[in-house]
Amino acid sequence: MSKTNRSIRGMHDILPAATSDWQRLELLSQRLLESYGFQEIRTPMLERSEVFTRAIGQATDVVEKEMYSFSDRNGDNLSLRPEGTAGVVRAALQNGLLYGPVERLWYRGPMFRHERPQKGRTRQFHQIGAEVFGAAGPDVDAELLALGERLWRALGLSGIRLELNSLGNSEERAAYRQALVHYMHQHQSALDDDTARRLERNPLRVLDSKLPAIQELLQEAPVLSDYLGSESRDHFDRLRERLDRLGITYQVNPRLVRGLDYYCHTVFEWITTELGAQGTICAGGRYDGLIELQGGKPWPATGFAMGMERLVALMTQGQESGPKAVHAYLVLAGEAAQLEGAVIAERIRDAAPGLRLQTNASGGSFKAQFKRADRSGAALALILGEDELAAGTLAIKFLRQERAQETVALDQLSTWIRDWFQDTKQH
Ligand code: ATP
Ligand code: MG
Repeated sequence: MSKTNRSIRGMHDILPAATSDWQRLELLSQRLLESYGFQEIRTPMLERSEVFTRAIGQATDVVEKEMYSFSDRNGDNLSLRPEGTAGVVRAALQNGLLYGPVERLWYRGPMFRHERPQKGRTRQFHQIGAEVFGAAGPDVDAELLALGERLWRALGLSGIRLELNSLGNSEERAAYRQALVHYMHQHQSALDDDTARRLERNPLRVLDSKLPAIQELLQEAPVLSDYLGSESRDHFDRLRERLDRLGITYQVNPRLVRGLDYYCHTVFEWITTELGAQGTICAGGRYDGLIELQGGKPWPATGFAMGMERLVALMTQGQESGPKAVHAYLVLAGEAAQLEGAVIAERIRDAAPGLRLQTNASGGSFKAQFKRADRSGAALALILGEDELAAGTLAIKFLRQERAQETVALDQLSTWIRDWFQDTKQH
């Protein structure tokens, strides 16, 4: 196939064989978020570029090299959203959702970053995220972590560890930044170009370096926790106390910083070792300064975002996924049966909500139709031919079970199907 007929590099189709896994994640996460009092918000995929540059920070990888930005026909600078928080904050400010009681919002959808595609890293990817506005204490941070752990359990995932750190407030970070820069400059000769550049533009990002030489150098570097004042330390201590009470285990990682600039105090990542290098499935923390950056009065905020591709990969590891099979396939032989069949099919759907029924389309012999019925994965073939039509009945053949074919009167069909469907759901 020529390149122009293929999807864009790093942007993938999610095919029928995989969508049921995605739906399971969507359903369970929505239910769980609702059980913690969150309401869904949907914001546009395109925003003015400043919405992101202001929030995320100029000197971040996302803004420097990952955003899909362009000017539209009016000359406005727009970007496809690289993450969800900035747009949610923009929407909350614009629509007066802030400055009242605590607001809990969740979102889900595609995000876009021009990164090097690799396992667990795509250019269109999907996140589920949650944000809490108006609560400054560590109690909410702890609750968000409880929610995360509960979700991993609901999804049947294990072996996910929680890493935690405190970034303090902006003055404390500024003091630490200075100390870090000073230390690194003493080892100038050991720095590669990228690290030197980070050090100049956004020093805390050095802590995030994946280079072994830099990691080694950082072993002896000053640590942020030594620069936290008593309020910040207290926030962090109270968070940890709550996690202990909830039985949530974690590791403090003093070098954990986040790629986006807006975080303060609590930051965390949920990490698995089972997906190779791209092991962070959920990341978040507190971003009390963001609302002011976006033009509002200061207001506390905290949240997280999880990567759906990575979660689905983890959920389906070592497991064959397939398209969702239909429950029943309606075989229709002859023009008269086709005509009547369409009506019967609607009646069946009325009788058994949730039942997946596929009606044979575009004719074909009995044999051809049975082949399609078998391929559809259906448990039942519902057969309407001339004989059945004349007798006012329908034949039911069990495609995945040693069980004799049955004949059901058309006026009994709804009841029969409803009972059968109840039974199947219970098994
Ligand atoms: P990473 O260090 O992996 O680049 P990040 O710090 O850029 O992550 P966040 O902006 O915090 O990621 O996004 C939250 C989550 O979204 C990540 O933990 C990850 O699960 C997922 N995610 C981020 N970027 C991608 C991507 N390009 N492809 C797939 N998932 C992604
Ligand atoms: Mg990234």
